[in-house]
Amino acid sequence: MRFAIYGRISRDRVGAGLGVERQVTDCRDLVSGLKGEVVAIFRDDDISAYSGKHRPGYESLLQAIKNGDVDAVAVWHQDRLLRRTIDLENYIEVCQPLNVATYTVKAGQLDLTTPAGRAVAKTLAAWASYEVETSTDRVKAAKLQAARAGKPSGGNRAYGYEQNGMVIIERECAVVRESIERFIAGHSWNEIALDFNARSIPTAKGNKWSAINVRNVAVRPRNISIRVHNDSEYPAQWPALVSQDTWDDLQLAIMKGQAIYGKRSYARKHLLSGFVFCGLCDSRMKIINAQQRDGSYSPAFSCRKKDHRGQVVGCGKVKRKKDPVEDLIVDCIMYRLDTPDLAALLASSKNDTTELKALMRDHETQSLRLQEILNLYSTGDITFDEYKIAKVAAAARLQALGRELDQKSTRNTLGQVPAGQSVREAWDRADLAWRRQLVDTLIDKILIHPKQLGDGKARYKQWIFNPDRVEIRWTS
Ligand SMILES: [Zn+2]
Repeated sequence: MRFAIYGRISRDRVGAGLGVERQVTDCRDLVSGLKGEVVAIFRDDDISAYSGKHRPGYESLLQAIKNGDVDAVAVWHQDRLLRRTIDLENYIEVCQPLNVATYTVKAGQLDLTTPAGRAVAKTLAAWASYEVETSTDRVKAAKLQAARAGKPSGGNRAYGYEQNGMVIIERECAVVRESIERFIAGHSWNEIALDFNARSIPTAKGNKWSAINVRNVAVRPRNISIRVHNDSEYPAQWPALVSQDTWDDLQLAIMKGQAIYGKRSYARKHLLSGFVFCGLCDSRMKIINAQQRDGSYSPAFSCRKKDHRGQVVGCGKVKRKKDPVEDLIVDCIMYRLDTPDLAALLASSKNDTTELKALMRDHETQSLRLQEILNLYSTGDITFDEYKIAKVAAAARLQALGRELDQKSTRNTLGQVPAGQSVREAWDRADLAWRRQLVDTLIDKILIHPKQLGDGKARYKQWIFNPDRVEIRWTS
């Protein structure tokens, strides 16, 4: 009889750890005991027969049977060959018409020619499925238990920790801390990644850092000793790499970096840039350094006639000193917020920031992806066409996210006034990005109207300035 031997190694139950070669050796002994001849050996490595994944060795075996190249099959155990009842049906369909017999080392001949033999094989397969299913449940339960106990999830080594996930590697830990501190100080993830690579600091897998890698390592809750399992957080048993304070600073830095997205709210030098328009021609006013009568220069809003390409963009007839305009706007905002409406506004904005944080993470991942697409193109790893397609898709997604983020974060701005602080106090302590967000929440646009006769006599605080020529259009 011409025998085919089939061997499969997998991590699951019977024969676990029994290498394919050992299975094949046992099968050879079986075949010689049956006075048969081995004509073919088929192998699959580390693929569970239960998962339904493609098994090339098994497919070749079935093909050899169909071709009539073999008279019998030898396997170590039925479950090496068939774990699912559906596999068995299929196997029977192939073997029965050709009268191909199946022998196992562990349980003798698998008699698929009689109804009783098939029933036994089916029962075996059914039990094998049952065991795999219950062991999947057991594995799930064990994972949850490990998470609740704050134990590591296993798998790849977490950067900064030994393989067991419990013991800190001081050298790597310093790298994580550095990346977090530098991001808080205003460096970009990309900048930090490039620097790590320049200093030949490898990742956990010994590779070069990318912006996403650096960021993923820096923002993982593991760093403050939190174990995440299925979106739930559990206190972990391993030591933290950074303090809660540093962690909060990091969250804040991430939020700040993301909250200033949008055409009106890119990080700018001036509070009102982008919000001020010419009262005559309605074009956006630029801030320029205008010469004063005494020869000194001070910033002013100016309606420009032409842009830097010489294109006509405005009337060029209106100009106003920046300082009194800003001062007036801030006073108006404070006045407007000093009403009972403010309490209601504050209350309604104090929603939780989970959604906002998720959006920010998403937005950040997209912008890093965009950055990496550019890197790939610049190193020649992708073609220009691939770059274009990838870039358009990433940019569109980024823009959509940015708009959503803008709306949500401006709504959230007022919610961030700390308890016990007046809006004025919060304003005085806040940075420019926060102030610009507040302006954006409240003001649609500011119009500067041309001076009129008699304005030279008007006084506003220390300035010669007529507040009546400034029109504020509130958002609501
Ligand atoms: Zn104008």
